[in-house]
Amino acid sequence: MDRIQLQKLRDLPIEGVAERLGLRVSRHKALCPFHDDHHASLSFKVSKNTFRCFVCGASGGTIDLVMQYLHLDFLEATKWLAAIDHSPFLRPDGSKRPSAERSIDQYDAQKAFDASRYNRYFERPWLSDEARRFLFEERRLDERVVRWCRLTSWKDKQGIPWLQSPYYDREGKLVGVQNRNLIKGATPRFRFPSGSQCSIYNLPVVNLLRPGETLFIAEGCSDCWSLLSAGHKAIAIPSATLLSKKDVNLLQALSSELSVRYEMWPDRDEPGERLFMQLKEVLPALEHHQLPPGCKDYSEYYLSKLRGQASG
Ligand SMILES: [Zn+2]
Repeated sequence: MDRIQLQKLRDLPIEGVAERLGLRVSRHKALCPFHDDHHASLSFKVSKNTFRCFVCGASGGTIDLVMQYLHLDFLEATKWLAAIDHSPFLRPDGSKRPSAERSIDQYDAQKAFDASRYNRYFERPWLSDEARRFLFEERRLDERVVRWCRLTSWKDKQGIPWLQSPYYDREGKLVGVQNRNLIKGATPRFRFPSGSQCSIYNLPVVNLLRPGETLFIAEGCSDCWSLLSAGHKAIAIPSATLLSKKDVNLLQALSSELSVRYEMWPDRDEPGERLFMQLKEVLPALEHHQLPPGCKDYSEYYLSKLRGQASG
């Protein structure tokens, strides 16, 4: 492919390419496919023909979007772009294609998660050296927790190591998968297969709760693993987003059926406190724990306690 052809692919309207990939673009924004997004964090800059997510940091042009979204290398992505039918982009009057406004529920419903494709990965979890380093050396998690959570790992075509966390519903049915990039500072940091329902993490733990027992609510998987490794029962909710009505109903039902007590160590920052206040509105008995200075989240606190034990 020569330079002129490549430039043509780079100049394809970025929003048109995004729509071709199945994203719903509205007012130059879309739900970010590279993290568990509920707020249309992905924006398009039409003047520069680029995209950028302000939450996970994914960014680039048309070719990057295709590479990242479809897991293709550069050449494959250019071939994909060259092969698609470009006619819908080229409206004779130059007007923007109408794009339907859709709610998040409709968005989720249109792409079903294919659990049969992913189930087998979690039947025999495998941890690469990178994953073991991250989980056991950096995060110092308990092996039993890693096994319980069925964490596994894989490498993509570019050799990037990913940690894969399955999301199960209360009955143990696989409903979503989170992929975490194990290279520090790399973007995108998270990826979710189509249709993944990654709302409440570690839901099967609620089946082990005894009446009146405490269930900790963490912000994100990492803090949940640390809480579990510290011997607590814990679930996680997606970071800084509101829960769906269905999730709230489930949490409220647990508190009335089993008189579950909810406790939380909010991140030591404004979004952490805001999330606590939002949860407290729907779970009024939610108890607040204060992280000590120098610990921005529970994982850091967990590590500092382990260090304290080692030195003391
Ligand atoms: Zn994102």
